[in-house]
Amino acid sequence: METDWKKKLSAEQYRVLREAGTEMAFTSKLNDNKKKGTYVCAGCGKALFSSSAKFDSGTGWPSFSDVEGDGVATKRDFKMILPRTEVLCKECGGHLGHVFSDGPHPTGKRFCINGVALDFKASK
Ligand SMILES: [Zn+2]
Repeated sequence: METDWKKKLSAEQYRVLREAGTEMAFTSKLNDNKKKGTYVCAGCGKALFSSSAKFDSGTGWPSFSDVEGDGVATKRDFKMILPRTEVLCKECGGHLGHVFSDGPHPTGKRFCINGVALDFKASK
């Protein structure tokens, strides 16, 4: 079944999730969000990241050192001169951001994620 993403998503969500765009740094309200809860895919609601893995990377994008469960897939991206690893929602294939190898212990990973691609569900 083909989801009508243009109806379901805002223009900016569509640009990021479905066309692999990048939001402007420091524009997501989730960048400074320090509440406890789960970050889910804005497209399909799949749980992707836990607040416990969120850290302040200073980049202006919500950053996580690890994923939550099996909601995330990765893919090599050759759009830049140096290949990067793209991060996608495993459920709907939506583009989330990229993962780099300069994150904090213990994973050493930095998932650099567009806030507009995420919804936040606060834990009760
Ligand atoms: Zn999704």
